Amino acid sequence: MTPALELIGVVKDYGGKRAVDGLNLRIPAGAFYALLGANGAGKTTTLRMIAGLLQPDGGSIRVFGESLAGNPTGAKQQMAFLPDEPMLYGKLRCTEYLEFVAGLWGVDGRTAAARGQDLLQWLDLWDARANYCENLSRGMQQKLTLAGALIHNPKLLILDEPLTGLDAAAARKVKDFLAGLVRDGLTVLFTTHILEVAERMATRIGLIRAGQLIAEGTLDELRAVYGSEHTSLEDLFLSATEAGPAPAAGSAS
Ligand code: ATP
Repeated sequence: MTPALELIGVVKDYGGKRAVDGLNLRIPAGAFYALLGANGAGKTTTLRMIAGLLQPDGGSIRVFGESLAGNPTGAKQQMAFLPDEPMLYGKLRCTEYLEFVAGLWGVDGRTAAARGQDLLQWLDLWDARANYCENLSRGMQQKLTLAGALIHNPKLLILDEPLTGLDAAAARKVKDFLAGLVRDGLTVLFTTHILEVAERMATRIGLIRAGQLIAEGTLDELRAVYGSEHTSLEDLFLSATEAGPAPAAGSAS
């Protein structure tokens, strides 16, 4: 089956510094995939290359088999990227923002209005639909950005730290919402520093260190390499990502 996302030997240098170092990553369709790593490991750089916002210096990226370099429009049409900072247009009302984003994707007005209504209701933003984006709380802005990311019905959703800045209720809402989308067939790739979220939500976990994938699999598969059946993801993460050689057996390709 064609993976939702495939990175082969992806490299990114900033000046003389290598941030992503021959990264191989394969995300099956339908996965809820957490990419974990310490600060500076290369997660955001990786996501920005997948989203087409940064040009890789080497390697290839395919989205549902479509080459990002060869057919950027075809590849990008299938995905959405949500950065860690909400990017909105303050003088647009919520509904206007969604219409605007839908227009960029070429979604027709009627479809956009119906989908926008569903998204606003699912994310508890319906009562705020006529508010200007600049007057929304930070958490509401984040949820609206998520609605905007989904307005063209992407098959792959990429989220950089999606729960940052959300209170407990909003975080629960977003987690439940994302879990529902994955049950309906969406593939999600996300980064988080909240290991409990990865432990509870992700179907697969990738550990990145110094721009390389050092291990990946289900939590049980990672435990088989790094600990026992009772090892917490936090202990596993610390033993895998702190200094020391990456284990060979069962580790990532
Ligand atoms: P964090 O968890 O702290 O967000 P990260 O895993 O997302 O970290 P990146 O932001 O991808 O890591 O950074 C990877 C490396 O690249 C770091 O050493 C960082 O300092 C460097 N880097 C990132 N962006 C730039 C940039 N625009 N210019 C130069 N170096 C950069």
